[in-house]
Amino acid sequence: MEILKRLQLTSHLKPKPTDEANLRFGDIYSDHMFLMDYFAGQWRAPRIEPFGPLLMSPAAMVLHYSQTIFEGLKCYRHPDGRLALFRPRDNFKRLNSSAARMSIPLLDEPFLLEALKELLKIDGSWTPSHPGSALYIRPFVIATEAHLGVRPAAEYLFMIITGPVGPYYKEGFAPIKIYVESHYTRSAPGGLGAVKAGASYASSLLATEKAAQKGFTQLLWLDSVHHRYIEEVGSMNMFFVLDGRIVTSPLAGGTILPGLTRASVLTVAEKLGIPAEERLIDIDELITAQETGRLTEAFGSGTAAVISPVGLLSYQDHDYVVNNGQVGRITQTLYDELVSVQYGLKPDPYGWVEILG
Ligand SMILES: *Cc1c(COP(=O)(O)O)cnc(C)c1O
Repeated sequence: MEILKRLQLTSHLKPKPTDEANLRFGDIYSDHMFLMDYFAGQWRAPRIEPFGPLLMSPAAMVLHYSQTIFEGLKCYRHPDGRLALFRPRDNFKRLNSSAARMSIPLLDEPFLLEALKELLKIDGSWTPSHPGSALYIRPFVIATEAHLGVRPAAEYLFMIITGPVGPYYKEGFAPIKIYVESHYTRSAPGGLGAVKAGASYASSLLATEKAAQKGFTQLLWLDSVHHRYIEEVGSMNMFFVLDGRIVTSPLAGGTILPGLTRASVLTVAEKLGIPAEERLIDIDELITAQETGRLTEAFGSGTAAVISPVGLLSYQDHDYVVNNGQVGRITQTLYDELVSVQYGLKPDPYGWVEILG
């Protein structure tokens, strides 16, 4: 493809991590990156270059007004050594819905997938094979136009960077403790909750830090109007097992990120015959359910951690333990099914896996 005409390989291949069992999340980058500019009304000059610093004006609009969006997906190494992407088309589709909300010009989704595949032809060898590890892929867009008046920028940079990662939480697949946040909120109706915008992450940091100081791994966000309905857990979608059914908050309000792992969990649940429901979940209902033994499991879902079991909820100075702080049966079943498909340990009946090569 045209990208290969603008292929600049690095003359300094970096050493790949040798200790795959101890990879962390997000501190190692592969050798190359994909870039594409937008100016004069068009996306242009797609290219692959050695991974390295960017040069931009201190007046670049992203630095002042946060006009930026991102995606996150993973490339997995199958037992036969082949590489596989998980639902990549859905990520690029979501990138475009984020772009629309953030006044960023839309991108050609099939082209982005081709670009990613070209990049992985060169850097796919960075994909680790240790269980639980993967090559994390971060596509993103930033507003690069030098201009301090407030309006959508006229110039942008789209990029893809990649890097090998281990489990997102140091706990791995072990229950995390979460703090139910009843003051700060993550998203408001009409706001940015449904898109992957850097600005939402910046605004979530203070509350997350405060929860961390109290010993919690993550926050459970409540809705910003009533401080009552469950939204998300950190940057994951939230699921509970209530009366044997998995329950998650609905997307209709526009305050919750439509996670692909969330959608995958719902599809897997249906296939495995686990009843599932999307409905508003009141924190008081949840606490009562915990006290009466009807809340049996809780977990978060997202690409980075896949599924993260929740072992404890702290709300208004009370600790509510879920399933004795153990991983629940339904959580484990859903995790096993998803991970087996992602890592190619069993055939993919869902049409989610895209084998490279
Ligand atoms: C990315 C993200 C998720 C998870 O989405 P996946 O597609 O499953 O990775 C959930 N919540 C927020 C706020 C996110 O940014």
